[in-house]
Amino acid sequence: MFWRKSKFVADVIEERCRNCGDCVGVCRHGALVTAEIQGETRTFVDDPGRCTGCGKCARVCPGRAIEMVERYC
Ligand code: SF4
Ligand code: SF4
Repeated sequence: MFWRKSKFVADVIEERCRNCGDCVGVCRHGALVTAEIQGETRTFVDDPGRCTGCGKCARVCPGRAIEMVERYC
């Protein structure tokens, strides 16, 4: 599939994240994931290359834990 990327990419601010998974559910591109890492549940952008910068995840996040930052990849 082809889609246009914006100059922004999602970034999860760990300290604000409650790991509710809402962002993972709305991302149509599978860029976000909630996973257990070394015994800790974390939500993060697993594949920034898949993120289009649409901002949906940031809009649904109840903790305002997602910021759109300038693309680094
Ligand atoms: S929606 Fe926000 S609080 Fe919920 S898992 Fe995603 S980043 Fe964390
Ligand atoms: S900005 Fe859009 S494409 Fe990127 S992680 Fe969030 S919902 Fe997915």
